[in-house]
Amino acid sequence: MWNPRVESLDKESIGHLQLKRLRESLKRAYENIQFYNSALRARGLAPDDIKTLDDLKRLPMISKDDLRKNYPYGLLAVPREECVRVHASSGTTGKPTLVLYTSEDIRNWSEIMCRCLFMSGLRRGDVFQVTPGYGLFTGGLGFHYGGEAIGAMVVPTGTGNTERQIRLMQDLGTTMIAGIASYALHMAEVASEMGIDVRRDLKARKGIFGAEAWSDSMMKKISELWEMDCHDIYGMSEMYGPGVGCSCSRGEGLHIWEDHFIVEVVDPSTDEPLEPEEEGEVVLTSLTKTAMPMLRFRTRDISRILDVRSCDCGRTHKRIARVKGRCDDAFSINGVKVFPGQVEYVLMKHPEVGMNYQLVVEKVGALDQLTVMVEADPSKIGPQAQSLESALFRELRSVLGFQPKVRVLPPMSIERREGKAKRVLDLRK
Ligand SMILES: [Zn+2]
Repeated sequence: MWNPRVESLDKESIGHLQLKRLRESLKRAYENIQFYNSALRARGLAPDDIKTLDDLKRLPMISKDDLRKNYPYGLLAVPREECVRVHASSGTTGKPTLVLYTSEDIRNWSEIMCRCLFMSGLRRGDVFQVTPGYGLFTGGLGFHYGGEAIGAMVVPTGTGNTERQIRLMQDLGTTMIAGIASYALHMAEVASEMGIDVRRDLKARKGIFGAEAWSDSMMKKISELWEMDCHDIYGMSEMYGPGVGCSCSRGEGLHIWEDHFIVEVVDPSTDEPLEPEEEGEVVLTSLTKTAMPMLRFRTRDISRILDVRSCDCGRTHKRIARVKGRCDDAFSINGVKVFPGQVEYVLMKHPEVGMNYQLVVEKVGALDQLTVMVEADPSKIGPQAQSLESALFRELRSVLGFQPKVRVLPPMSIERREGKAKRVLDLRK
């Protein structure tokens, strides 16, 4: 462990620390930020009313939309002059959401990144290639500072230019990569076009991936393709960036750093907190952020808190299941809710299914129609495309509860992008 004392802290001590830090954060937010002050007063609450961790659920929640409304400096709890960094997340519409950091925030972020990277196998001496974007996006710099603090040699390639990424991996002997999961698949595909076998010709055997929902079967696929030990990292710019939690090698799910965050899962329609193992929206409260404390931030991510405490790895921090999708990603087919992850889970179980797939949603007459397009390796399926189609059809029908169309296509027929894969094409909009 990077920080064994804290990472294996007993449950009671974590609770005490959380309550103390929650009360401090709340007080700072109430006294310095108009948004929190008004939201608490509207509920007839003052910071002293929060006496136990259970009182957390009495606090109002904050959404990404509130961040937009308070753009750029409306949610600062410190004078602007005390901020040393700004990041932003791009919104699909309108203003970006801005996140500001004091130097203490940057130190805390680096600490949790070190814990995640160490958990994923990064050590001094490693050659660590950081493929998420640098700049206003938190991905690149988050991995960068964590990697340097551990003492690895960071290769700050950032996103894109996949051929150059692969050449550098080969020339420098990259041992670990950070990125988004679908990009690891894309890189393997490009490498093979360049005549490079990622297992034989490259040394990258460790990977840490985040920023998009991915399934267990996709992780298995990357592990096999790259012969790689893969870890899942969780985070978002509103909570520093990546580093809120990470999957260990021993147990299921991701440990959330409870000395820095409180994790809740709520029913997105009623906002009521759910019990462990019940699936809903992840809500995070920051405990150490000084520039922009975030109390009960709605992440829109769908997951559940695991009903287990101890883990064979020795870490005591609570775990959540791998994020299944985002509330906003789910789409409805004639009233039935579909998460792209459900489809991916079925597809990735078939080794002959290629790395790219797309879900096309359209209106056929008055009804919604889902077509699942997959690419398959011709050397593996030959004339068997028909039987692959019917196998996928049967399995998808049983998982989804309705009949999708399935089309098996030759490799490279679905459009590629360098960033996050566009998995859903909704032509109804
Ligand atoms: Zn563990």
